[in-house]
Parts: sequence; structure tokens; C-alpha cells
Amino acid sequence: MTACVELRGGGKVYPSRRGEVVALRDVTLSVDDGEFVSLLGPSGCGKSTLLKCVAGLEDLTNGELLVRGEPVDGPPPGLGMVFQRDLLLDWRTVLDNVLIMAEFQGLGRREQRPRAISLLERFGLGGFIDRHPWELSGGMRQRAAICRALLTEPRLLLMDEPFGALDAMTRDDLNVELTRIWQTAKRTVLFVTHSIAEAIFLSDRVVVMTPGPGRVREIVPIDLPRPRPLAIQGTPEFAAYVTHLRRLFEELGVARA
Ligand code: ADP
Ligand code: MG
Repeated sequence: MTACVELRGGGKVYPSRRGEVVALRDVTLSVDDGEFVSLLGPSGCGKSTLLKCVAGLEDLTNGELLVRGEPVDGPPPGLGMVFQRDLLLDWRTVLDNVLIMAEFQGLGRREQRPRAISLLERFGLGGFIDRHPWELSGGMRQRAAICRALLTEPRLLLMDEPFGALDAMTRDDLNVELTRIWQTAKRTVLFVTHSIAEAIFLSDRVVVMTPGPGRVREIVPIDLPRPRPLAIQGTPEFAAYVTHLRRLFEELGVARA
């Protein structure tokens, strides 16, 4: 079976006026089809850079990167992306923000409309489809951004700290919803976070990155049953993963990821 994402010896150097910045160094990582993998590491360790390379928005300086067996050269087909800032367009309604993906991909708006509405309903936004982004809370905006990314049924979903700006309860809600969506459609998700608990709760495997230049310190398989209720975070098994990951970051000289 070919992996969904295969990165071998990945390096990324940004030129800058004050010399070169090494963002990634010798990163080797493989993500299976249908797997949920999180990248966990302190700010500046190259998480966003790695995601942008997979999305074909940045080129690697060294190494090899394949998505479903094809070398990445521009955005791979079947890609969805969600960023920390929702990047909704303020002059469009919520529904039209979701439908923009249909427009980008040359799919008919009219055909995609029922699917967009059902996605929005599923994310609790059924009553808000004609509102504008500024009328929504941060959590609702991020839900709309997820619906937009899911409209075209991406097989690979890249998420860069999508819930980082949300309060803890909204974040919990969306984590549960996201795992539900992931489990029903069996997509591959590569998720960036600096929350240890979020990474454990969501993932099949957690990739622990070192402070910049980012390397892989350890890949931790999360062997917790699914579906995972929120209360799993109170179990000794969950706590053992938290302790293990905290210890890794302490060894790396970062108190908190
Ligand atoms: P993270 O997402 O883990 O916080 P980034 O991937 O954004 O980390 O950044 C990794 C390193 O690369 C940082 O030192 C950052 O300053 C640098 N960097 C990121 N993007 C650029 C760029 N376009 N030009 C120069 N340096 C950059
Ligand atoms: Mg980042």
C-alpha cells in the first residue's frame, strides 16, 4: 500500500536578509491512508512549513516528498486546508464562503449547494447560512472554514492549528466533531497543534518535533480506543501519554510544547 504522505530526508531553508533560516532538517515521516497524524512542537519549529510543503505551497530544499506516490509539485489533487485564522471572506455569506471551493474547482454552485447546506447543518450552522462572517462567534467561523474545506470531499486534510484561537470548551466540541467526521469518511488528516492534550485526543500517532530547526524527536503511537469520549482525558492511560510527551519536551528544553 502506498502511503498518503511520504517525506524522506526533508529539509527546508528560507533565505532571509539576516542569513539563512533552517526551518526543517532531515525530516522523515510517512502518513498512511486514513490515518490521523498530529505534528506537535513549539512555535517556530517548522510545523507550518512542513504543512505548506505537503500542500505544494512551498518547495523543499532537500529530500523527497510524495503524496499518494506522486512527487509534490503544486497543490496535490484532493487536498483540503484549514488555517488558524479562518480566512472567511467578510463580504460573502456563510453559504457563499463554503461554495467558493466549488467555484475554485469549476464545480457548479447549484449542484454543490445542497451538500454545502447539509455540511453547515451538520456543524450546527444551519440557521446561519445567510449570515455574514462578522455576525458569527470565533467557533462558528472556524466551523464554517472546516465546512468549506470539506465541501469537495478532500482525501487529505491539512489543518494548521485550526482551533488555536478558540476557548477550551469550543475547542473540545470541535475536536469531537472533527474525529466524528474523520471516522465516517476515513480521510487522511495531518494536524498541527501545540496542545499536548489535543494531539493525544485526536491522533493515531503524534509526531514530536524539536525546536527549530525542526527535526522529528519521536513518533508516539496513541493506542486509545475509538470513538474517544471527552472523558477519556481523565483516564490514567491518557495521563500516561501526557506525562510522556511533557517529559520529551522538558528534555528538549521546552517547558510547554
Ligand atoms: P511553526 O509553524 O512551527 O511555528 P514555521 O514553519 O512557521 O514554524 O517557521 C519555522 C521557521 O522558519 C521559523 O524560524 C520562521 O521564522 C521561519 N520562516 C517561516 N516562514 C518563513 C519565510 N517565508 N521566510 C523566512 N523565514 C521563514
Ligand atoms: Mg505555525
